[in-house]
Amino acid sequence: MTALDWTREAACAVPPASALPWTADPGDASPAEVAAMARVCAGCPVRLACAAYAHSGVTAGFWAGRERGELDGARASSRRCAAA
Ligand code: SF4
Repeated sequence: MTALDWTREAACAVPPASALPWTADPGDASPAEVAAMARVCAGCPVRLACAAYAHSGVTAGFWAGRERGELDGARASSRRCAAA
């Protein structure tokens, strides 16, 4: 078993979803592509593992329903809500 075993169940790894621009830099994917990736992630069984991996040094791409730069903001918002 490896740290990336969860990727075997990734919804983005199989066609037609795999054709979307998952590794694009923030802002490079079109709004329609971003919406399509978000829909795929919404039904992905490994979304939590994906989000954890995205926080391990990844700097670009679309992970767990958000562009990489948005994940940091979402995590900060969660902490603020929990602290309130
Ligand atoms: S949550 Fe989204 S980006 Fe992450 S593995 Fe699943 S489909 Fe891919």
